Amino acid sequence: MDKNQKLQLKVLMKTRINQLNALLKVSSTDAEQLQAYVSEAEALKSNLLWLETGKAGLCFKCGCDIKFSLLVAYPERRSCEKCDDYGEVSLSTGSK
Ligand SMILES: [Zn+2]
Repeated sequence: MDKNQKLQLKVLMKTRINQLNALLKVSSTDAEQLQAYVSEAEALKSNLLWLETGKAGLCFKCGCDIKFSLLVAYPERRSCEKCDDYGEVSLSTGSK
């Protein structure tokens, strides 16, 4: 990941954190949704710190480069496509 990409992601993350902070001030939001906002904001804050380290942009599981486009779409994520274990699992219906 180069400097400009890092900068782009930082701006993206900060913007999203501000959005979440604004959403958290809306008292009509239900508790479950609030919790989701809080955990997303926390993930983003820790990813902001992650961008400052030597492991910026590297998957926490396998250590390969996470696609930049993926990070732009999901700035809160910390794993690559291969190691992404959420999504597909929840789609399966009826466990046997
Ligand atoms: Zn990985």
